[in-house]
Amino acid sequence: MDTITTLVKSIFYSEYISILEISYLLASVLFILGLKKLSHPDTARSGNLWAAAGMGLAILCTMLFHRTKLEDGTYEGIHNIGFIIAALIFGTSVGWFAARKVKMTAMPQMVSLFNGMGGACAALISLMEFPRMQTLLAVQQHSNMLNGEALAILLGLMIGGVSFAGSMIAFGKLDERIGDIRSPVLRYINLGFLVILLAFVVFILFQAPVAGEHWMIYVLAALALIYGVTFVMPIGGADMPVVISLLNSFTGVAAAMGGFLYSNQAMLTGGILVGSSGTILTILMCKAMNRSLLNVIIGAFGGSASASISTGDKTVKEISLSDVAILLSYSKKVLIVPGYGLAVAQAQHLCHELDDLLASKGVELKYGIHPVAGRMPGHMNVLLAEADVPYEKLLEMEDANKEMSSTDAVIVVGANDVVNPAAEDDPSSPIAGMPVIQVWNARNVIVMKRSMAKGYAAIENNLFFHPKTRMLFGDAKSTLQKLVSEIKNL
Ligand code: NDP
Repeated sequence: MDTITTLVKSIFYSEYISILEISYLLASVLFILGLKKLSHPDTARSGNLWAAAGMGLAILCTMLFHRTKLEDGTYEGIHNIGFIIAALIFGTSVGWFAARKVKMTAMPQMVSLFNGMGGACAALISLMEFPRMQTLLAVQQHSNMLNGEALAILLGLMIGGVSFAGSMIAFGKLDERIGDIRSPVLRYINLGFLVILLAFVVFILFQAPVAGEHWMIYVLAALALIYGVTFVMPIGGADMPVVISLLNSFTGVAAAMGGFLYSNQAMLTGGILVGSSGTILTILMCKAMNRSLLNVIIGAFGGSASASISTGDKTVKEISLSDVAILLSYSKKVLIVPGYGLAVAQAQHLCHELDDLLASKGVELKYGIHPVAGRMPGHMNVLLAEADVPYEKLLEMEDANKEMSSTDAVIVVGANDVVNPAAEDDPSSPIAGMPVIQVWNARNVIVMKRSMAKGYAAIENNLFFHPKTRMLFGDAKSTLQKLVSEIKNL
C-alpha cells in the first residue's frame, strides 16, 4: 500500500514538475515575444502585456505546482501563500497607482526607481540564501565555499546591491534632489572600491563555512551599497543616459543569478533578456555619447558646470510668431528637433497638428531624434508615438544630419544639449566629442524655449547666438498653439 502511495505521489510530483517547467518555458517565450514587440511603437503596448502575462503565468504556476521533496519521501508545496498573495496585491497596487499618477516628465525617475527595486529583490534573495547555503556546507564539512551556488549568491548580492543603490542615486539626480559630486579623486576611490568588492567576493569563497556566522554577507551587502552610491554620484550632466542603461543591465544580470540559484528557467531567461538588452542599450548610449564603457564603470566623468562660453557682446535674435508662420508655410522641407522641453510642455500633440497643417500646404516635415534627447532612452520616440506621429517620419541623428543642408527650417522644440555645437568645436567642453544634431547646417533655425537657461549638462549653448538662429521664447505648448492658429490664419 505504501509503495502504491509513494508511486502515485511521485507520478503527481513529476507531473507537477512537468507542468511547472512547461509553464516556465511558455513564460520565457512570452518574454521574448514581448521584447520583440517592444522594439516598435505600434506593438510596444501589447509587447508589455505579453511580457507581463509571462511573468503572471510563472508566478501563478510556481505557487500552484512547485513541490519540494522531503526527507521522508513526501512532497510539499509552497508555504506562506497568504503572505505571497498579500505582497503581490500590495506591489501591484503601488505599481498601478504610481504608474497612473506619475507625470510624463517624471517617468524617467520612476523607471529608475522600479529598476532599483529589481536590484534590491535580487540582493535580498542572496541575503536570504547565503545563511542556508553556509549551514548546509558546514554540516557537510566542506573546507571552503568555492562552488557555483555560492558564486551566484555573492554575485547576485553584489550586482543587485550596486544596481539598487545606484538607481536610487540616479532617481535623486533625475528628480533634481541630488547634485553631482565631481572630483578626480573619486575616480580612484571608485576603482579602489570595485577592487575591494571583487576581492571580498573571492575572500568569502575561500572561507570555511561556519554555521550561524553570517557577518561576511552583510559586509558584502554594505560594500555593494556604498559602491553603488560612489559609482553614480560623480556621473552627471550629459552622461547620465549611459549609467541609467548600465544599471538596467545590472538588474537583469542580478536577477539571472537568482535564476541560476533556483534552476528557474523563467527567472533565468527574464534576467538574461533584461541584462543583454540593457547591455546593448548601454553600448548604443556609449556610442551616442562617444564615451568608452570603462570610463563609465570607473565613473567620475561627465559634464561640468565649470565649462562655459563667454557670451561677450554676442546678441540673441528673436523672431515673431507671424514671421515663423510665414517661414514655415513657404518652406519645402522642415525638421523638428524635440528635446526634454517637449516632454515638460507636453507639446507632442501640437507638433503633430503643426505637421498635419504644414503637410496640407505641401511642406515636408520630419523629426530629427537624438538618442539621448529627453531624460530616458527612447523618450522622444515614446512621446511622439503617444501623439500618433507616424514612425517613418522619425529620422535618426545620422540621417537627420545628412538631410540638414537641404532643410529650409529647423524648429528646435525644448532641446538644448543635443543641438549644442560645443560638442564639435570646443575640445574643453564636457560634451566634447558627443555627436549632436547639426541644426546650424540648415538654412534657418528657430529655437523654442522659455529662456536662455541651460540644459541638463549645465553648459552654455552657442547655437542661440548663431547667425542663422532666431529665438521664439515661451512655453513650447502655448507657442506651438499660437503658431498653429497663425498658420491657419495666413
Ligand atoms: P536639455 O535638458 O539639454 O534641454 C532642455 C531644454 O528644454 C532646456 O534648456 C529648457 O530651457 C527647455 N524647456 C524646458 N521646459 C520647457 C517648456 N515648457 N517649453 C519650452 N522649452 C522648455 O534637453 P535635451 O533633450 O536637449 O538633452 C537631454 C539631456 O539630458 C542631455 O544632456 C542628456 O545626456 C541628458 N540625459 C538624458 C537621458 C536619456 O536617457 N535620454 C537621461 C539622463 C540625462 P528653458 O528652461 O529656457 O525653457
